[in-house]
Amino acid sequence: MTAPSVPPSPTDETRARFLEAVKATLPDLKLLEDPVDRDSYRLDETAYLAAGLPLAVALPTTTADVSALVRLAAEHRIPIVPRGAGSGLSGGAAGIEGGLTIAMTRMDAILDIDHENLVVVTQPGIINAELKKRVDAEGLFYAPDPASYEICSIGGNLGTNAGGLCCVKYGQTRDSVLGLEVVLADGRVIRTGGKNVKDVAGYALTHLFVGSQGTLGIITEATLRLRVAPPPRTTMLAFFPTLDGAGDAVARIVAAGIDMVTLELLDKPSIAAVDEAFNLGLDRDAEAMLLVESDRPEASALAELDAAVAACEAAGSTMTMRAADATEADWLRQGRRLALRALERQGIVRMEDVGVPRSRVPDLLRAISEIGERHGVRIATFGHAGDGNLHPNFIFDRDDPRAEELTDLARADLYRAAIALGGTVTAEHGIGLARKSVLPDQVGADVIDVMRSIKAALDPLNILNPGRVF
Ligand SMILES: Cc1cc2nc3c(=O)[nH]c(=O)nc-3n(C[C@H](O)[C@H](O)[C@H](O)COP(=O)(O)OP(=O)(O)OC[C@H]3O[C@@H](n4cnc5c(N)ncnc54)[C@H](O)[C@@H]3O)c2cc1C
Repeated sequence: MTAPSVPPSPTDETRARFLEAVKATLPDLKLLEDPVDRDSYRLDETAYLAAGLPLAVALPTTTADVSALVRLAAEHRIPIVPRGAGSGLSGGAAGIEGGLTIAMTRMDAILDIDHENLVVVTQPGIINAELKKRVDAEGLFYAPDPASYEICSIGGNLGTNAGGLCCVKYGQTRDSVLGLEVVLADGRVIRTGGKNVKDVAGYALTHLFVGSQGTLGIITEATLRLRVAPPPRTTMLAFFPTLDGAGDAVARIVAAGIDMVTLELLDKPSIAAVDEAFNLGLDRDAEAMLLVESDRPEASALAELDAAVAACEAAGSTMTMRAADATEADWLRQGRRLALRALERQGIVRMEDVGVPRSRVPDLLRAISEIGERHGVRIATFGHAGDGNLHPNFIFDRDDPRAEELTDLARADLYRAAIALGGTVTAEHGIGLARKSVLPDQVGADVIDVMRSIKAALDPLNILNPGRVF
């Protein structure tokens, strides 16, 4: 079973008729047609990928709006790009030439905070940090926290199955999703799951839509799992004279079952960049640093950090230090979150997103160093080491003519290394446009065939984000 890779291109006349039909059907819809406005929806954070100029950008406010838009797009065979806040790192929300981008940013209401069932029902356009703040004000906690949480939307997090700093304890976005409302490719609206914690009625459609990068449906509402807010975090740093040592410490902490809420790694170039940008007083001589946090009540948090210190020292850590107070801890966490921005001060940065089984983190770190040496590419690596998920960043001078060529060579080796270690070419950013050529290398032809069958069943006209994922 195969789905066409891109739908046939509509003529200019069809596009014009489509826009007229949209305006006639949804006269109150905010529809951006000005080329400058449309251009600002061309890219996500993968500015280096070629992306198209949308024909128009629709900013719906209701599920009915989205449904009507999709029906009209299907009728006129206009490709659709569902878009959240555009912070994605795989090109999933990048524009398609002549397509309709549906930006969900105006559907940003929280519909219900249900204390009895510990769930929140929300529209997808809300920014992750805003949702966290709103539930926190009621003593509740929404766990998934991408480093980009201040600039990314819940819809985008659902679209990518986003990870984050505390996913090592609480899981990726998918682990916090109980139910969805989804507009299908023909405009029908379905509900999957709901407030039930357990629900095995039929196929697990909720989980299928999460991470599908807007290729199977447009999420218009989500029922998300909350927790009672945990105590403030207890935070420490561990510095290592070798990268191997830091990787070994991660493997030891995981194997010991120490349930840290944050277990993040920064290598030497990342430490230097973050310290330069935010003046945190980090040990710039260290080859690697781990940011380790517990969110247990005080006494058990201290016991947990003691166990982590023991694992770090056994792996050769030269220095461990606790954050003096919550403010210092916030600064350290924020420094890690802004590591990409700190590196971007140095030149062009191409961020990758490989993952391996957690015992193989030391091997992955070694492979990354070898790739840097082999291709003469400067690499700074940081990431969610506790999940086995690292972000090697290839850094080039802004005028380096070989940047693209070397990125391609280094990236190919990186993907090979991750797959050879039993890992993945993308742990949280998604295949999108950026990595679709290597998906078959990881999953094989039969899995691609199953994925294509699902796509063809749900989107037979291939109008939802065509050409993304495969
Ligand atoms: C500095 C920085 C740090 C980052 N850190 C992390 C991190 O720690 N963890 C992580 O996972 N990612 C991280 N990211 C990547 C990015 O923020 C996430 O992928 C995020 O989930 C994207 O959300 P968005 O709202 O910006 O989505 P967009 O980029 O707009 O869209 C992402 C994908 O979701 C689809 N989509 C959007 N809305 C919907 C919807 N309503 N229904 C169906 N599909 C939809 C889009 O089609 C697209 O394929 C980081 C990015 C930056 C720039």
